[in-house]
Amino acid sequence: MTLILTLGVNGARLNSSITQLAQIGKLPGGGVCRVAFTKEDLLARLLVESWMVEAGMTVRIDAAGNMIGRYPGKGEGGALATGSHIDTVPVGGHYDGVLGVLAGIEVVRLLYENNVRLEHPIEIIVFTDEENSVIGCKAMAGNTVSDAEYYRRSDGTSIETCLAQIGGDWSKIAQAKRHPQEIAAFVELHVEQGGVLESTGDEIGIVQGIVGQYRYAVTVTGRPNHAGSTPMHARKDALVAAAQMVLAVNKLGVEAAGEQVATVGYLNLSPNATNIVPGKVDFKIDLRDISQTNLEELLVKMKEEFRAIALATKTEVEMTEMLHVLPTLAAPKIQNAIAEVCQELGLSSTYLISRAGHDAQEIGRFTDMGMIFVTSRGGISHAEDEYTSPEQCTQGANALLQTFLKLDRLYS
Ligand SMILES: [Zn+2]
Repeated sequence: MTLILTLGVNGARLNSSITQLAQIGKLPGGGVCRVAFTKEDLLARLLVESWMVEAGMTVRIDAAGNMIGRYPGKGEGGALATGSHIDTVPVGGHYDGVLGVLAGIEVVRLLYENNVRLEHPIEIIVFTDEENSVIGCKAMAGNTVSDAEYYRRSDGTSIETCLAQIGGDWSKIAQAKRHPQEIAAFVELHVEQGGVLESTGDEIGIVQGIVGQYRYAVTVTGRPNHAGSTPMHARKDALVAAAQMVLAVNKLGVEAAGEQVATVGYLNLSPNATNIVPGKVDFKIDLRDISQTNLEELLVKMKEEFRAIALATKTEVEMTEMLHVLPTLAAPKIQNAIAEVCQELGLSSTYLISRAGHDAQEIGRFTDMGMIFVTSRGGISHAEDEYTSPEQCTQGANALLQTFLKLDRLYS
């Protein structure tokens, strides 16, 4: 084990794999387009599969299309698992998701070439379609939607066809569900999509959890009327009401005690004409925080304020929940292990919460989860100029390696 501690991963090989994978779906501007279930996604999966096999892993595809490389351990207990995704948004970068998968493979390459086995088997997981339906990790957590129509692609392709193309099987999706005894712990390495690390100047982010999220659709109904002949006191102006509600959402985001963010990013107004008092406004709220209690309190306050605003403006307000994702906390045991590893490796670190969703969020619903973040320049990702330096990628992979070595001793 001391040998591995002193060696560390082969950073040059890791970064060359990242560059190689970025050739598949390469865009003229330097980015990558590798949307799930496209030809590019399939080619990338084949390349990654070949790397897994070369590193001594057996590879299987589950019913949800997740690719699972398994490196045997000395024992047959639950695996130490890592992984992420290799699909991208339509104009994505080289590192989002990819780093987590390839760093995992690099860790196994190192063990394999040094003829080392841990007590636990290791699993490297490539999750299906993280950027859109999130079907891969949700299926592992047993949380998929049963209606196949929900997963139909925007080009009309059915989920049955999509999954069949990558070796999955929609009719057996329930079989993709994993159990805590199969995965002892899951650690995902990912680029930080927020810029916290850049502002603190730290090398490694120890993720405390992934935020929960609510999305609400709000409809404010007033009465459309002539903008000239309707006196001010007789109006039921839906936009005046909605504007106050938008400000109330922002005020709660700024002033409430938690770590919440609250956004109105969509608003539609009708009839949307210069000479008519607005009769109806639809807007949508996105609310996120790591504390479910705080989220619920914020919603209560928001609804109270909306009712008061509606009363004062003689309008009606209706709120409909569109999405609710529970927060997932990282296991303290894994957070501590990552913090110790950073100290041992001489890497500066800070604790932070993830405000973006990750595959680990779903895996953390049934087993211990942790995440390691490395800096993404300018906090930019889902963009062509997404950048993490080779040195930072290597540091992240070494943190992952050492965390696995520690967890191998901590978990029975
Ligand atoms: Zn990602």
